[in-house]
This record gives sequence, C-alpha cells and structure tokens, in this order.
Amino acid sequence: MSNLKIEPILCRAGSMDNYAWLLIDEESGQSAVVDPSEAAPIINRCQELNVKPDYIFNTHHHYDHTDANLELKQLYGAKIVGGAADSKRIPGLDIALEDGDTFNLGESQAQIIRVDGHTIGHILWYFPEAKALFTGDTLFNLCIGGLFEGTAEMMFESLQKIKELPNDVNFYPGHEYTIHGIGFARYFNPHSQILKQYIENAENKLNQGKPAAPVTLGVEKQCNPYLQALSPASLKNLCSG
Ligand code: ZN
Ligand code: FE
Repeated sequence: MSNLKIEPILCRAGSMDNYAWLLIDEESGQSAVVDPSEAAPIINRCQELNVKPDYIFNTHHHYDHTDANLELKQLYGAKIVGGAADSKRIPGLDIALEDGDTFNLGESQAQIIRVDGHTIGHILWYFPEAKALFTGDTLFNLCIGGLFEGTAEMMFESLQKIKELPNDVNFYPGHEYTIHGIGFARYFNPHSQILKQYIENAENKLNQGKPAAPVTLGVEKQCNPYLQALSPASLKNLCSG
C-alpha cells in the first residue's frame, strides 16, 4: 500500500514561482524532492519536518528545476534521478530512467512517462497508487509549457498521454501559473460552470497563500483549453495565438 505525503515548497517566489514538491513515503520514511530550483526554502522546510531527502526527482534539465540539485545532493547525500535523454544536461544525475521505467520511493512506485514538447526528454513522474502526477513544465493549471525544443505535434502526443490517465489523478505542476491561464480559459470556455468553479477554488486557495494545485485530471480536461485541442494543428494555433 502506498501512502505518499506531498508538500508544496514555493521557490523563486515572485519571480518564476516554481514549486518543488516534497514527497514522503510514510510506510518507509523515504523522501524525495521534485525539481529543486532554490536550496534555502527546501532546506528550511526539510528542517521543520525533520526530513533528509533520499532522492531528487527532476522532470527536465532547465535551471529553474535543477539549480539546487548539487547543493542538496551534497547536504543530504541525495541521489539524483531524471530522464535518460537529459543525462548530459541534468546536474549531478545518478540514475537515468527511460519512458516506461518504474522507480520505487519506499512503497510508492512511480512510472516514468516521456513527454517531448517543452524540451526533448522531459518526463512526468506518475504514482498510480497515490494517484499523483508531477508534470514539471508540460502541464500547468489552465495552460501548458512553452515549446522550447519540441514541436506542437510532439506536445500534442504528450498531452494525449496525460489525457489517457485516470480522471481521479491529481496533478502537481512545476510553476504557479494559474492566474496567467485564467483569461484564455475563460475566452475559450465562456459559459462553463465547471471552469467558473475552478477559478473560484483557485483564487480562494491562492488568497490563502496555498497553491491552486492539486486539481484532478478529470476537471483539468474540462477546463484547460490546451487539453481540449483535438489535433496537432489546433494545438499549434492555440500555442501561437
Ligand atoms: Zn522548463
Ligand atoms: Fe520552468
């Protein structure tokens, strides 16, 4: 049985508003930090919780997801785990995983899903039993990551993989970008009651200083315009429009 505790840690607050996610497998006590971009807030939170992360899980190589890799590795002796296609680009990588590989954090098992688009070699960390999906810069609340290295066709394929996952999975993005997505989502789905409710919930949480995440994939599929694109061509239009 997996019992995975998930804690948000806001990094680069006010500039890039990254989230590092602290994962604690409660059966074994093993822990990991997803996408550590700034050491200080992570070290503080780990100290408060008396946790020494065993692993760092990266979704992709960008500095605003990996900048604290080496410092945390040195401090905690954490092993760094990321996508094989990023093995030359992720600082300090110890374990390289391919699409379809699994990785165990104690009793909690992750599946690796490769999603090219934002970068080539970006991965998602999917914990089926815990119903948790860490989406890095591929899927945000109400929007998606920019096409830095991949094409709209690649991103469309990647979003299809996300859409095939169960509706009751919660997703945890790499940035707090909800506010940026609201305008376009409203324009795209002007009469949607579920979107109206989504925005109210998100604004309430943000006003309390909490992340808008997590939202379930089932709700996100009904509200995020980029998940509603039915072809690579229409996704391309959304991305350039
Ligand atoms: Zn990125
Ligand atoms: Fe990023």
